[in-house]
Amino acid sequence: MLLTNVNLKRISDFHGHVCPNLVIGCRACQLALDTLDPDQTSQETLSVIAENQTSAIDAIQYMTGCTLGNQHLRVRDLGKHKYIFVFNQSNRAVIVNLKQMEFSGESTYFVLERKLRDNQATMEDIHKIQSLLDQWVSWLFSLSDQELFHVAETTSIPPGINLSSRYVRCSHCQDLVEDSKAENIHGVLVCYPCSRLLSCKSGSSAWQ
Ligand SMILES: [Zn+2]
Ligand SMILES: [Zn+2]
Repeated sequence: MLLTNVNLKRISDFHGHVCPNLVIGCRACQLALDTLDPDQTSQETLSVIAENQTSAIDAIQYMTGCTLGNQHLRVRDLGKHKYIFVFNQSNRAVIVNLKQMEFSGESTYFVLERKLRDNQATMEDIHKIQSLLDQWVSWLFSLSDQELFHVAETTSIPPGINLSSRYVRCSHCQDLVEDSKAENIHGVLVCYPCSRLLSCKSGSSAWQ
């Protein structure tokens, strides 16, 4: 999908608004797709690993069809605008990593955002917030791909999407848990939260 104004309108309708994170997601997708498949002729299926859980995820889901539901999108929220787009058959991948995010008026924005959270914002404050967000969106669109992102192609990314639907029972809390998300601790399967809990109790890093 080419990132035309019409498509941006569709993506923002899907997401609910236009915001800087959404635009970063759109730009990252477009760049990755152009890099992996410049002629748009590939029949390969795509998977995406995203390292944040922001509005950018909606852009990725809309533009690529890789969703959390169909498991072609995996989100590991490390708070980074870093994305790995993988062609599953050839295992070709492109890593897109945001280079810069230095918005003008950021300190003003955070003061106003705090007022908004505390229900203290005036109409003037809300207009100012919107105008700053609009400025940031325009700034993001004004940058070239090279100015915005580091891009690296690789073939060494394993197919990161596990489609297993087998469930096992956590031996600590007894919840059912997908086997790929269970940890084998000294021969028994436990879910992540129990693994962390047991790790804290034992005070040992052997559980981690
Ligand atoms: Zn948003
Ligand atoms: Zn558990």
